[in-house]
This record gives sequence, C-alpha cells and structure tokens, in this order.
Amino acid sequence: MARYTRILLAVDLSDESVQLSDRAVEIARQNQAQLSLIHVVEPLSFAYGGDVPMDLSTIQEQLDEHARAKLSTYAQQLDYPVDKKFVVTGNTETEIHRIASNEETDLIIVGSHGRHGLALLLGSTANGVLHGAPCDVLAVRVHKEKKEEEE
Ligand code: AMP
Repeated sequence: MARYTRILLAVDLSDESVQLSDRAVEIARQNQAQLSLIHVVEPLSFAYGGDVPMDLSTIQEQLDEHARAKLSTYAQQLDYPVDKKFVVTGNTETEIHRIASNEETDLIIVGSHGRHGLALLLGSTANGVLHGAPCDVLAVRVHKEKKEEEE
C-alpha cells in the first residue's frame, strides 16, 4: 500500500486536541510523512454580522495572534517535527479543504466525538471535513474531558 507523505492535522486547540496528537504522530512516523497543523479561527463577523457598531479587526487580530501562540505550543509538545503551521480565518471545513488542496495533503486527521441524536443530525466538523475532502480523512475518536462529562 502506498504510504501517506503529507499529513494535515486539524486541531481546535481545546484540551481534547492532545488526544489527537499521539495517533497523528504514530501515523506520521509509520509513514515517514511530513506533518503539518491547521487551526481555523472563525471570523467575529460570522457571529455578529453587521450588528456590532464597531471595528472588530483589532480583536480579530488578537484572536489570531493568541491562536498562533497556542498552535506553536501545541507543535512544540509533539514528539515529531512539524513541517508547517497554518492559522487561517474562515469556515473550518472550507479552510481545511483549501489548505489540504494547496499543500497536496494526502491524509487529513480530525477528531470525532462519535456523537448521536440531535448532535449527529446537526453534523460535526469531522463530518463536514469528510464531505468534499480532496484526500483521505481519518477521524480519530476523542473523548470529552472528564470534568465536562460530569456536568
Ligand atoms: P467538533 O466536531 O467541532 O467537536 O470538532 C472535531 C474535530 O474537528 C477537532 O478535534 C478538530 O480535529 C477539528 N476542528 C474543529 N474545530 C476546528 C478548528 N477551528 N480548526 C481546526 N480544526 C478544527
């Protein structure tokens, strides 16, 4: 079987992202692949539209900067060299597809909660990434942090 050469790991930078890293590193190592990371920052305008009578660009820049710093820390904690780190603004699924195409990625790795019920009907990022993906997609099962489960 052909090996994967360029892997794109999508991380939401929540505590759960750590659960993805072991699996992603294992696959990257087995395939001797280049491993890149992507985090998508949703534009504030998506949430507030034109309803906020102020310029959101400074806050948006701060959010992007914060995400870049967090992604760097995440990359440093991986037991594998990271090729490229992407922090992009837009729709999560669209941006993951766009970067995967541009970078000639052959495997996208995302986390999946194995949702059911209403959440399944509404869909998840893993579902969204799978549909229309330009390459293979691996959904790695992640578990909610214990504290959240107890709530
Ligand atoms: P969700 O369905 O939103 O709980 O997210 C599941 C998985 O989708 C995460 O573990 C990530 O792999 C990916 N994901 C979700 N949000 C983002 C984001 N903003 N940027 C990059 N990947 C994301």
